[in-house]
Amino acid sequence: MKAYDGYLIDLDGTMYLGKERIEAAPGFIQRLKDAGKKHLFVTNNSTRTQEQVAAKLRQMDIAAEPEDVFTTSMATAAFIREHNPASRVFAIGEEGLFDALEKEELTLAEENCDYVVIGLDTSITYEKLAKACLLVRAGAKFLSTNSDRALPTDAGLMPGNGAITAVISVSTGIEPTFIGKPENIMMEQARKLLDLNKEQVLMVGDNYLTDITAGIRAGMDTLMVCTGFTRREELPFLDPKPTYTIDTLTEWEFK
Ligand SMILES: [Mg+2]
Repeated sequence: MKAYDGYLIDLDGTMYLGKERIEAAPGFIQRLKDAGKKHLFVTNNSTRTQEQVAAKLRQMDIAAEPEDVFTTSMATAAFIREHNPASRVFAIGEEGLFDALEKEELTLAEENCDYVVIGLDTSITYEKLAKACLLVRAGAKFLSTNSDRALPTDAGLMPGNGAITAVISVSTGIEPTFIGKPENIMMEQARKLLDLNKEQVLMVGDNYLTDITAGIRAGMDTLMVCTGFTRREELPFLDPKPTYTIDTLTEWEFK
């Protein structure tokens, strides 16, 4: 096992499962801090602000400050600002997305937009989708915070942001640029925030299709923990395989 200076850590399935904390999570973060490692929580959840995510973690006795949290909404807003800080943006989403766009000082608009951004919105309406379609057809660049098709909830799998985004891509025939895991855009931004090279960073997560694939595409080593989405029985069929696979985070030793 190699020594890593920085850790990118997924949340749902890795730190908690819905509203339930994963038992090994607080100790893992404490040991990471004691070992003097850098870290960032990276989440495809676009609906919450970094402050709200940190508060949720602290409620579960998992040490977290707002600046330890990097959401796909923050990555999306940073991406737009990097390309053109004067952009006019039409956004569908919840507080986490609007908060991130505001922090990057981007202008929200409903006409003559440079970008259309889609994040999960549980109050989605036909009117919002129609507006997004018209703007994309008129030439606005089409971004989506993440391609997650389904969202695990207590009631079962609900439509995820990928499903909402698909309404617009199917209707217009135009594919969006996705920002969140497994795309490289968010991973590269997270790596830059850690101020480390990809060889120094380990991506930790429970989902092979998002977290581990994101790490592999970003050229990082990966640690899959089987407390969430991907089951250990699937390991023989995964290609390429995660660098490491463990059943619980207590098994991980910081070097
Ligand atoms: Mg996860």
